Amino acid sequence: MEIAPGIHQLKVPIPDNPLGNLNCYLVAGKNGWLMIDTGWYTPEAYEALRTGLKGLGLATTDISTMVITHVHPDHFGLAGRIKASSPATHLITHRWEADLIETRYIKFGALRQKMDPILARHGVPKGEVEALKSSSMPTLQYVITTLPDDTVHGGEILSTGEYDLEVIWTPGHSPGHICLYEPKNKLLFSGDHVLPSISPNVSYNAQSGDNPLGDYLGALRKVQNLEVTKVLPAHEHIFTNLRGRIEQIFAHHDRRKSEILGVIKAEPHNAYYISSRITWDIPNLKWEQFPVMHRRSAVTETIAHLEALRWEGKAEKTTMNGAVTYRAL
Ligand SMILES: [Zn+2]
Repeated sequence: MEIAPGIHQLKVPIPDNPLGNLNCYLVAGKNGWLMIDTGWYTPEAYEALRTGLKGLGLATTDISTMVITHVHPDHFGLAGRIKASSPATHLITHRWEADLIETRYIKFGALRQKMDPILARHGVPKGEVEALKSSSMPTLQYVITTLPDDTVHGGEILSTGEYDLEVIWTPGHSPGHICLYEPKNKLLFSGDHVLPSISPNVSYNAQSGDNPLGDYLGALRKVQNLEVTKVLPAHEHIFTNLRGRIEQIFAHHDRRKSEILGVIKAEPHNAYYISSRITWDIPNLKWEQFPVMHRRSAVTETIAHLEALRWEGKAEKTTMNGAVTYRAL
């Protein structure tokens, strides 16, 4: 699909995943094309990407630059595969994402060990820690790892010779998440930062900052007032009302925060307990029936909300014998 002259969207399937597709974007340039996000690595996904490129008369060797919004598998997974077939392609990530590549995909054992004490401290029962901790491991097979040739930190202009793309650092979903803004057509390549109907997972974990939800909400404010005619997200569909969508996301997190405050108003509780008492978008399932992966995100998302509330002065945290509880103020 052509969005503006020389700007295209390719849908790369994510097999067996509710997200369905990763939206990869291609921006024309004087000396080759710039690609934004790749899709995760499976032979079918790589074939779909190659077929999409072929439809535009392109091969991977026509991609002079690959920009990855963040290094989650569905965005970064094919980067190493593309590099293998086109070694001259220049890979760019935020500098913090570059660090995460090593801890997530190369020396990942240490990361798993760090997650243990975090989950235990926040009340996850012993038997569940092991299951919760390992639940994100299967995605490793969907990544062909490679390291960036260059890193950015926000504010840079990436020029293709035809389009200038401004790098905007938008931490929260991942500490080094970036969006790209194209001022000529007023396009925002939003990655997972702003999606039309899903709100991205913002979790407190071994790789996040100490207030990831605060970072995320701040980074929404950063893009909220940009002049944008089309938002080009990494999943779902293209949309127009950026400001309205951001208002909805603020409201979603406000609701969750007040629900959490309700649970800890009368007495302090740990994050695991609080997670089991609030509403999640998993219809018809009781907390006990949640798949392990969902329970893990619920707990780490709850911690992110609790920490944001703490930084806002609305909750306090107490640690006793290694166990963390929160109380509303
Ligand atoms: Zn994604």
